Amino acid sequence: MPLVRVENLRKTFQRRGGAAVHATNGVSFTIEAGETLGLIGESGSGKSTVGRMVLGLIAPTEGTVDFDGRDLATLTPRQLRELRSELQVIFQEPLESLNPRMRVSAIVEEPLVIHRRELSPAQRRARVLETLALVGLDEGHASRFPGEISGGQQQRVGIARAIITEPRFIVLDEPTSSLDLSVRASVLELLGKLQRELNLSYLFISHDLATVRFFCMHTAVMYLGRIVERGPTSDVLTHPRHPYTRALLSATLSPDPDEHKLHVPLRGDAPNPLAIPPGCPFVGRCPIEIAACSAAPPPSHTVAGTHEVACIRADEAITTGSQFQ
Ligand code: ADP
Ligand code: MG
Repeated sequence: MPLVRVENLRKTFQRRGGAAVHATNGVSFTIEAGETLGLIGESGSGKSTVGRMVLGLIAPTEGTVDFDGRDLATLTPRQLRELRSELQVIFQEPLESLNPRMRVSAIVEEPLVIHRRELSPAQRRARVLETLALVGLDEGHASRFPGEISGGQQQRVGIARAIITEPRFIVLDEPTSSLDLSVRASVLELLGKLQRELNLSYLFISHDLATVRFFCMHTAVMYLGRIVERGPTSDVLTHPRHPYTRALLSATLSPDPDEHKLHVPLRGDAPNPLAIPPGCPFVGRCPIEIAACSAAPPPSHTVAGTHEVACIRADEAITTGSQFQ
């Protein structure tokens, strides 16, 4: 049984004035224990909304989130609160998610105060120091304020805070986007080490394909509230089948000349969740669309193993490579 199972998740936000924003439009995936699923796509495609629904922070308009076989929607507020210690999140901006007036030790301790009431202050203190050590920080950092440490150290504090309750699943929402390259590598290394040691599952939200390629076993590509392609990262990012995935890849420079053959320019307007097209969400920007693409959203189908793509032209995308030049 997968640890996380998300089925047909839809979220519609009502804007003031009455406009409906369709942030996600039927998202499904599973994450096994100890696994990392990368979720990629342009800004506004609905990635963070998916993350918040998976954590039970917002309720889906439609669809279900199961954690360890339990449907979050059927839990009482008390059960949901208890489950919160097993589901954690790490955000992009470390400084924004850390209270600037609390010392590092108090920030890291806070989840224990909420979720582990049975621990004494001395036991909590010991756990804080242990956890700080796990993320490469020491007693010297514990007494500082977030503003007094570096960006990389702040993100380590965010990680310590997230893992101190021994969660089984963490949503990482662009956790390294605000960090320098060198710091990014060490934070990723730390996340990988913690995953192996604690058998953590991650939903890793990012628009940095190089990081996803390096860090995630599986990848799902989102476009305008839908997953258009997913599967093992080695398939999705090396043999992309959806024209949108190919466009995303060609927007990032690759040292591999073979990949340059995949060049797809993204044309047309940025996607607009206020006006979802009735058919494929990529219509209007797709270089190989045909009339049938506008009729109905293309169903996901398997192209190889567990590699799935929602494009009725997926075969074309491979055989008519010249159209992508
Ligand atoms: P991403 O993380 O991929 O950038 P988001 O999930 O943040 O995308 O947003 C998806 C869409 O939903 C965007 O158009 C965003 O403006 C909209 N949205 C997100 N949260 C809200 C909200 N609370 N109210 C109204 N619209 C929202
Ligand atoms: Mg986001």
